[in-house]
Amino acid sequence: MKIILFGPPGSGKGTQAELLKEKEGFYHFSTGDFFRQEIAKQTSLGEKVRYYLEKGLLIPDEVVIEIVENFLERNYDKKIVFDGYPRTISQAVSLDQFLLQKNKKINFCFLIELSEEEIIKRLTARRICENCGAIYNLNFKRPKIENFCDFCNNKLIQREDDKEEIIRERIAVYYKNTLPLIEYYEKRNSLYRINGDLGRDYVHFEIMKIIKNYGDLY
Ligand code: ADP
Ligand code: ZN
Repeated sequence: MKIILFGPPGSGKGTQAELLKEKEGFYHFSTGDFFRQEIAKQTSLGEKVRYYLEKGLLIPDEVVIEIVENFLERNYDKKIVFDGYPRTISQAVSLDQFLLQKNKKINFCFLIELSEEEIIKRLTARRICENCGAIYNLNFKRPKIENFCDFCNNKLIQREDDKEEIIRERIAVYYKNTLPLIEYYEKRNSLYRINGDLGRDYVHFEIMKIIKNYGDLY
């Protein structure tokens, strides 16, 4: 089974993908995490994409598509939850074509909807662990020890792009490039909308309700 999570920045895609990983054994594939790790490791790819992440802009399609195809070449047989991919029509088309070749497809897309006000509120309070990818929030999910990761004790950081000005840019990019994808998947009857305001457990419950009904393939 392959699932895509859509939603504006801060809608909880990463959190939901982690829940699907822990509870259901999905492989959590986040292009954002992947690029952040490349930047942290100072690889040449990391250097190439740093500018885009810092500005909240999309990385050019060719670069992202190549990374994803490399990953999929090795992992297309797994249960995968895509977090942050695809983000443009051309990424979506290339993902469909790749999966088709392997006799696979996207089974479900979930759109987690959230107001702009709530996005800003959540993201400015978000802290992450760069080591293990854990996500915290100063308002509703504080770490046990202030500023340190519950799981690996690494120091927490605020993502560079979680500053208000950059958040606004990311929201604008989302509306411009990613919203057309909703229509793309709606036409394929695989899109489900979920209200992201209702919190992490509710959103997870809604996702599970839909994929559990899928029967055999799941
Ligand atoms: P969020 O969804 O919270 O904005 P992500 O962690 O998914 O954050 O992505 C962070 C940044 O990584 C994006 O602003 C963009 O620069 C880059 N990025 C991630 N995924 C893609 C993608 N599929 N296409 C282009 N750029 C991407
Ligand atoms: Zn950690």
